[in-house]
Amino acid sequence: MRASVLNLGCKVNFYDSEKIKKVIIQNGILLVEFKNIADIYIINTCSVTQMSDKKSRQMISRARSKNVNSIIIAMGCYAKLNKAYLLENQIADYVCSNIDELEKIIIDLKKNLEVYNHKDNNTDNKLNLKIKTKKRFRAFIKIQDGCNNFCSYCVIPYARGLPNDRDINEILDEVNYLCDNENIKEIVLTGINISSYKKLIDLIKELNNIKKLLRIRISSIEVNLLNDFFINKIKTFKKLCPHFHIPLQSGSNKILKSMNRKYDTDFFYDSIQKIKSIENISITTDIIVGFPDETDEDFNDTYNFIKKINFFKIHVFPYSQRKNTKAINFKNQVNESIKKYRSKKIIKLSSELSKNFIKSMLNKTFEVLIEENKNEFYFGYTDNYIKIKVKSNSLKINDIVKVRIGNIITEPPLEAEILRFF
Ligand code: SF4
Repeated sequence: MRASVLNLGCKVNFYDSEKIKKVIIQNGILLVEFKNIADIYIINTCSVTQMSDKKSRQMISRARSKNVNSIIIAMGCYAKLNKAYLLENQIADYVCSNIDELEKIIIDLKKNLEVYNHKDNNTDNKLNLKIKTKKRFRAFIKIQDGCNNFCSYCVIPYARGLPNDRDINEILDEVNYLCDNENIKEIVLTGINISSYKKLIDLIKELNNIKKLLRIRISSIEVNLLNDFFINKIKTFKKLCPHFHIPLQSGSNKILKSMNRKYDTDFFYDSIQKIKSIENISITTDIIVGFPDETDEDFNDTYNFIKKINFFKIHVFPYSQRKNTKAINFKNQVNESIKKYRSKKIIKLSSELSKNFIKSMLNKTFEVLIEENKNEFYFGYTDNYIKIKVKSNSLKINDIVKVRIGNIITEPPLEAEILRFF
């Protein structure tokens, strides 16, 4: 029997999909690439934008078209929000809301499913088909799921439910296993709303004590977490990387209010000034442009506020109407051409700010985790998330090397070149 897992969406989905693959392998089923014919297809879907919904539907029907007798199991946000539609129209055979439920179905299918007559069933071929797990050097670690912030544009709380934290010891066991058995040196703590993880400081403290673990990253935090206690505490954790992704979404207080975000620009500004006391810190963010009733003036407020904060990088999202959210019924929906124009302006600003930030890091020394090489060039990221390019014939993937930044490579993707490494 063969199965294939396709992941769509965020780091949390990626983490869940890796777990799903393990369940498949542990049940003695051959895990094959999505491009191959399988008896079972598991699509871990996303619903953050209309585009993600469309992609989720496309991938589900693509799986069906590969093997009409295959079993389609849909998971993730789009599947949960559209369960009835997918099952009633037999677009999917199962809609699962968690991995335990999936395992029960898999065990059941193993007993009863008529396996596709895979002509290429000889051993060599099976080995060729078997998914080659790529050597990884950074591991995403899911620490919580769910959110109850109910931002007016977001479907996630309806898809993933209320916040629930993973047990701290379970997380520590997982990280120790990865460091001991997979030589993982860097982890990224991920979740739907990490700021709601109750024991975050305790967790980072324990992780900071794991000898073989060299770097800890946090995928994203809400600005409301940045109080003096939190900032003073995290300064003591040497392995915690000085890069924080803190979604702003808008720089207009009018729009922040109608987004139901839990802060205004003054609070956001003051909190960022506090965390900027961390040396060489880089701050990235998310911005939604074209939210309902966003006027030119509101957009200019956002543009100027972004400059005032001086972010390292900005991810821009044109507002996407989502079913079941409050904002879908808001007046003065903004048309797509204005959203496009505003996105372009923020993307241009982001590239200028990134250049300025890297310029401010020139001649400074950083540790870089080497994660990729093309010919004689090696690539990796500094702890404050600057992408580094270095020419070398002695480096290896997963090395951590000390470097001094010498120069900026301006053509995209924005990278920094090494002056020297030690
Ligand atoms: S914090 Fe807001 S945007 Fe983020 S998952 Fe929760 S509701 Fe969605």
